[in-house]
Amino acid sequence: MVAKRYDLHVHSWFSNDCKSNPKDIIKIAIKNGLSGLAITDHNSIKFHHENFKSNELLIIPGVEVSTNRGHVIGLGIKETIKRRLSPEETVEEILDMGGLAIIPHPFDFTRRGIGKIIYDLKNIAVETVNGSCPVKFFNTKAKQMAAKSNLPETGGSDAHRLKDIGMAYTLTTEEITTADDLLEAIRKQRTTGEGSNLTIREKIIRTFQIHF
Ligand SMILES: [Zn+2]
Ligand SMILES: [Zn+2]
Repeated sequence: MVAKRYDLHVHSWFSNDCKSNPKDIIKIAIKNGLSGLAITDHNSIKFHHENFKSNELLIIPGVEVSTNRGHVIGLGIKETIKRRLSPEETVEEILDMGGLAIIPHPFDFTRRGIGKIIYDLKNIAVETVNGSCPVKFFNTKAKQMAAKSNLPETGGSDAHRLKDIGMAYTLTTEEITTADDLLEAIRKQRTTGEGSNLTIREKIIRTFQIHF
């Protein structure tokens, strides 16, 4: 079975800090060879209410929720969750809706990672590679934590711009046809977080479009 790539953390113009047009996101994801992606806008599920469709790409509903301690992603849910609940309450809400709770960039204290609280949470998956972490160490720490706690892992670019889509991703060799198949593969720990994060130098180059 060929391994397939899914970018499970992408933002669109329904996030207040992102200008990516949903149609362009889908186009770029296909061009970059992804088999699917999750749009996880900040506290908004509007992308998924617009019903963007693609025959070539599996689109997984999701949302990145701002809890009172940092970010938590809900995949496979089509409703938003109240902001500023505790991470634990947020995870419970996601599970009650039948979704999968992922803790994105947990150790990235510069970008609202929830930090050590992650050790108290149950029934979560860990985003072990986040493409927008400013330093690789944050991802390394997440990878070690997931392995040590025997938790499922995912990867996502956290792209706020089209050019970053697919630089980090979730890899699996499982047969996936629906969003539920993918969530199940993650729960069964048949996925890994892969790809790379932007180095600070790359981040500066991309931000200011500098060509060295
Ligand atoms: Zn985040
Ligand atoms: Zn994000």
